[in-house]
Amino acid sequence: MAFKEKYTITPAYLSAPSKRRSGLLMSPGVKFIVAHDTGNPKSTARGNRNYYENSRNEMSASAHIFVDDKEIIECIPALTNDKPEKAWHVLYGLPTDNQLFGYNANDAAVGVEYCYGDNINADEAYRKFIWVIAKICFTFNLNPAGSTIGHCFLDPKRKTDPVSGLLQSRRTYDQLLKDIVTEFNECTGGVVEKYAFTASPGSGKVLHRLNVRKNEPTTKTDVVEIVNPGSTI
Ligand SMILES: [Zn+2]
Repeated sequence: MAFKEKYTITPAYLSAPSKRRSGLLMSPGVKFIVAHDTGNPKSTARGNRNYYENSRNEMSASAHIFVDDKEIIECIPALTNDKPEKAWHVLYGLPTDNQLFGYNANDAAVGVEYCYGDNINADEAYRKFIWVIAKICFTFNLNPAGSTIGHCFLDPKRKTDPVSGLLQSRRTYDQLLKDIVTEFNECTGGVVEKYAFTASPGSGKVLHRLNVRKNEPTTKTDVVEIVNPGSTI
């Protein structure tokens, strides 16, 4: 089965070995994705990659993929090579990546950076951003509904990305997570069965007072029944 190739991913690997690109392979393989933004308005995918290359022996911080409105550039192998390598995009020693996914992000997560700023078409950059994240899910057999985490949730004391950058496209983090699933379904034709949501009959106990509504369940549609806590439906 194929994934819809809407865009091109351009490999432009950093020289290795260097501080930014060690060449070490992701030890357990790719298990999740960390969504970032560059934190540097107006800097482009190409500009960030070139900055990394020029300072590759000065600092170890890195990420795999930069996305702007024009390009998707991979500077550490992840999608464009069958041997994904580690990048240094989340501090070691933080608890949340281990709690949620069982690994340190640097050992098992692809880091994807969203570029933004008033010289970058935010909607176009966003379309490429969700597409490449959905493609990572497809390539590494990850559930698109539960495999992406924002950097700010892993490192809340220091980081606000990608929430701060996404504001530039007037989108929220919740919207990002939903759009990744929608994009995944669109690009696979919704045929990855284990991730498709299918309704099947069953029963459950009601814990809180439950309003059953007509048609589309929004708070504006008519309530047809109120079910009390303790009932089984
Ligand atoms: Zn980040």
